Amino acid sequence: MIRVSPMADELAIGHEGRIAWVYGATEKHEIDHHLGATLPSSDGQKLAKPSRLSQLAAHSEISSTEYARKHSMLPSFRVAAKHGEDLTHGCEHGENFSRRLGMLTQKSSAYICLACVKADLQKEQLSWYRREHHLFGVDWCPTHEVGLVKVGVKDPWLSMPHHWVGSEEIEEPYTFDFNLVELEFLRRYAEISTVLLDRAIPLDVRSVGYLIGKRARALGLRTSINGQRSTISDQILLKAPAKWLKTNFSYIATKEKSGFVSKIDGAAISRTKPAQGAVYGLVLASIFDTAIEAIQYLDNTVPSDVVNNVKTPLRRNAGFWHGEFWEIYVRHQGLTTKIAESLGMDRKTLQDKMWSLGMPSLHNVGASKSWRALIRLHNGEGFGRSCELENAEEKEVENLLRNVSPRVVALATKLLGISRIEVASATISAKDQHSKVDAKVKNESSAPNQEFNRFIGAVIGDQGSTRETAEDVNAV
Ligand SMILES: [Zn+2]
Repeated sequence: MIRVSPMADELAIGHEGRIAWVYGATEKHEIDHHLGATLPSSDGQKLAKPSRLSQLAAHSEISSTEYARKHSMLPSFRVAAKHGEDLTHGCEHGENFSRRLGMLTQKSSAYICLACVKADLQKEQLSWYRREHHLFGVDWCPTHEVGLVKVGVKDPWLSMPHHWVGSEEIEEPYTFDFNLVELEFLRRYAEISTVLLDRAIPLDVRSVGYLIGKRARALGLRTSINGQRSTISDQILLKAPAKWLKTNFSYIATKEKSGFVSKIDGAAISRTKPAQGAVYGLVLASIFDTAIEAIQYLDNTVPSDVVNNVKTPLRRNAGFWHGEFWEIYVRHQGLTTKIAESLGMDRKTLQDKMWSLGMPSLHNVGASKSWRALIRLHNGEGFGRSCELENAEEKEVENLLRNVSPRVVALATKLLGISRIEVASATISAKDQHSKVDAKVKNESSAPNQEFNRFIGAVIGDQGSTRETAEDVNAV
């Protein structure tokens, strides 16, 4: 068997193509056959097939971790990994990653540098596809600083770059007309991307998120969703060439000033979910003046509690909102600011969510005519009378009725204190009222809409559903 060793920085998919070329294999099963031949046989026992990356490593007689580090783009795809998933690229436990990402490049086509092809031919009498020509957003050769050339055929990897050059199946080189400052940024981005591509193990997302956040704040940048100060993405807009940004990261190019772009501002500092590899390169190139500084910064030690004990955000699914959220709402007496604080949520977002649940803020409800009328209604006063006594617009009270869960009205009644509302029925003592309210607060089911409809039906004596009532009102 002829062993086809990979060349320096050769892409795995290009290496596979070169093996196929040497063997004269054009079909996938033929390539499979040649690569599979080097695997240890297993007495007819069917084992899980190794990833193509591992097969290529075995063919090359080098370890799969070394092969992954030097010939795959896994280090670019997985710059950071979830805590506990920071496996060495290409290792046995990381076969799933190798299988999924091991043979991919960061571009949709094959690219070559004509100067590299020329130099390779002179030195090795052959040419090959390089990883550093397939980094996202790097459209020039970092070694020769000339624009890359796209190979314009369907299966570029099946032949070596110089073959395509010879048959003129290449497109015009990428042209870049950047000024010196812009070039400096692009060089920094390319250098950071290239160094990250050489890492054997992904960074722990907890560390990298912490470090980027710390650096950004030290530069006076904002890392929170709301606020006036500039964000990391503002810094990117300021530093990166606009044209390049528009091509590669269009979602930043069109952002508003001081706006928070979650794909960048949130992703780069996340301690739970790793960002796309290129995002780290972009952010680092924007918050550091040199690539070396940026890369060395990533090696800084991080306080142990950051890595060991990160507050994982609560999973807030429908079950949370229709279940335990009620307890939190009651505990904080329906005050949005306090609830937002305890949940670590943006106040405005929470406010919208609370309205949709029929659980609006109970801040200062005692001062609202409509709320006071609603509470009277809850206490057994007639609808018209309640509105009249509080000088409230019937339509507004009805609107509130339609949008607020009855258990919230019960809670508001309790919080406001019966003494402040003139209880219509003299037969019910304040004490009874309290205990009734308590019982209601505790026993309300978690299906507010249904309960609410029943509530309105009972109180207003309406025949139809609330929706129909609304339509009737609108029709008048
Ligand atoms: Zn080159």
